[in-house]
Amino acid sequence: MAGKCLIFSAPSGSGKSTIVQWLTREHPELNLAFSISATSRPPRGTEQHGIEYFFLTPEEFKQKINDNEFLEYEEVYTNRYYGTLKGQIEELLRNGKNVIFDIDIKGGLNIKKYFGERALAIFIQPPGVDELRKRLVGRATDSQEQIEERLGKAEYEMSFASQFDTIIINDDLDIAKSETLTTIQKFLKDSNTFWQQYSV
Ligand code: 5GP
Repeated sequence: MAGKCLIFSAPSGSGKSTIVQWLTREHPELNLAFSISATSRPPRGTEQHGIEYFFLTPEEFKQKINDNEFLEYEEVYTNRYYGTLKGQIEELLRNGKNVIFDIDIKGGLNIKKYFGERALAIFIQPPGVDELRKRLVGRATDSQEQIEERLGKAEYEMSFASQFDTIIINDDLDIAKSETLTTIQKFLKDSNTFWQQYSV
């Protein structure tokens, strides 16, 4: 049976990646596979090619755009492209994996539009801009200028929350994790019933 899509979008620093990594690591029964995006930004910290992202040069990225290899792509920050490779997702879904996307808001809504009922779009909302600033500074992986760019963008991005299927407020990480888990379990269970009923 073909898999489903779980889309996670959020303003940067909302804890989205922490929740996504926790789900893939701690919940093998959900049969999740992480959608590895391509990006033209350089690796941060311990990030590795083919694990967190496929790291491409801007030229390589643009070549793949021309070759129509992306399901969607965005220039998320100036000259920093991010995109979802068609071939990778199709193969995972065919193999019955539930594909988990950690993706920006616009990309998330595009993937939701593409997959419709086969996808659940989840918005992880940080408690507020001040808290977000603290987290980005604490993470210490971005320059002051990059932090200001991410914060400016975050305020704008919050306005898209209502377009998602569900909103999880990440005020307390443990509560947010458990709410996310319950929501996903319900979606996978309900949609499995749907597919079993109609795939005879
Ligand atoms: P970061 O540089 O912090 O890893 O990611 C920056 C932003 O790009 C995040 O909001 C992340 O979710 C988003 N992003 C990652 N992969 C993709 C993708 O394949 N497509 C789009 N549109 N955005 C992505």
